[in-house]
Amino acid sequence: MSLHRLRKADTAPAVGRDIDAWCTRCKMDLGHVITAMAGESVVQVRCHTCGSVHRYKDPAAADRAARERVARASGAGGRRAASAAAARPNAHRIRYEKLMAEKDRSAASRYHPTISPKSGDLVDHARFGYGVVDHVDGGKARIVFEDEERTLIVDR
Ligand SMILES: [Zn+2]
Repeated sequence: MSLHRLRKADTAPAVGRDIDAWCTRCKMDLGHVITAMAGESVVQVRCHTCGSVHRYKDPAAADRAARERVARASGAGGRRAASAAAARPNAHRIRYEKLMAEKDRSAASRYHPTISPKSGDLVDHARFGYGVVDHVDGGKARIVFEDEERTLIVDR
């Protein structure tokens, strides 16, 4: 029992950790941060894209097939994701600084879901700071911020 709980704690959802969830405002699966738990269940999350705080909805409720594709692609699952996250800061930091070195901060676009950025554009996000657009696909942009890469809504 106690061993099981210890192992699980490595990757278990917790307040302050990121989780993919269905955003009730953006109407799509996006990165969220957990803001409330009840026992081992995620209760409430805040959307990285729109900032709204809402009840947690498992992405599976919206698109189970997509979640299974992600699970297969990530192989070992949570455990491997956790160690990748631990190894990420240095490589990520180097990539971010390389990207930012070429950018003129005074030319950054203020992030808002209605902007239509292109790959390579610099955005200025109220919470995450400066980020460089990696690519845009289907109304979502992958943006490299100082701490991590995020998927945010664009072209609204
Ligand atoms: Zn949202």
